[in-house]
Amino acid sequence: MAESAESTPTPSESNLTCPRCGSSTSALKPVDTGTRLALQSTGMQEGEIPPAVCGSCIKELGGKISQGMKLRIERVNRDKNRAILWKGRVQLIKEAQEHMRNRQYAQAAISYEKYLRSLEIVFNKKKGELSPEVFNNSRRSKEVTVISSVLWDLVRIYDNSPRYTSRMKEAADKLAQFLPLSTIHQEVAKAAEGFLKQSKNPQIVKDFMRATKISIAKCFIASAVFEDPEAPEVLILRQFRDQRLKRSSVGRGLVRLYETVSPPLARSLRGNQPSRQRLRKGLRQSLSFTAGQLRRWT
Ligand SMILES: [Zn+2]
Repeated sequence: MAESAESTPTPSESNLTCPRCGSSTSALKPVDTGTRLALQSTGMQEGEIPPAVCGSCIKELGGKISQGMKLRIERVNRDKNRAILWKGRVQLIKEAQEHMRNRQYAQAAISYEKYLRSLEIVFNKKKGELSPEVFNNSRRSKEVTVISSVLWDLVRIYDNSPRYTSRMKEAADKLAQFLPLSTIHQEVAKAAEGFLKQSKNPQIVKDFMRATKISIAKCFIASAVFEDPEAPEVLILRQFRDQRLKRSSVGRGLVRLYETVSPPLARSLRGNQPSRQRLRKGLRQSLSFTAGQLRRWT
């Protein structure tokens, strides 16, 4: 191998040999996994498809595959890229944590951002649109805790620079969505109180603490009454809360009341089928009113 480094051709030379057709070429192109699988399914043997071939061989091999097959290849390659990203996220987290230990916060932030971006691509989400609902099966639910700890680190890193205030706000908003479903919820909620005293952006931290409480209340009520945090009724309630209630002092008082009463209410509702049904009916009625109000007010 030492000698191959010496004999590596410069781009102007064309002294590589295509292992398939034997002609000399300046560059060999890799035969991707999808193409390989498709060619094998047309009856070609593994040995007839070298790992990399010349440009004209790539074309020729491509011609042997039908259109339907080509679509399948694209899918395989896309799935493969996703699988690589999904696997690679672990390494990104390790890198970031290493940077955190060495107090290289800017580098840590870059690795964390790459990690979040990988997840967005894996789950086919636009930038900033990752949501906890994506992780709704048990295999993925652990990721919610990892994401929460990543966002919590990012919030604190961004806090250090006035240039990153808007990123801090975005990370804090996202964290409020993920945190209540994670296993580090109480730990972070407690740490946030300490962080509030030293933060350069205390308002963002306050908003985050408040939004987290509301997320928790939402989860309690929704799972108790509708047995589904994403029930349409719950979405309407949330909209009403965000668009209408928070704009007036009376509304804000109601939100506070809601935060206080909902966890114990939810606890007593669970295991009480008749009152749950009554409440569900009552909520549905007032929600159709709420939906009408929302349309008028917004
Ligand atoms: Zn060739």
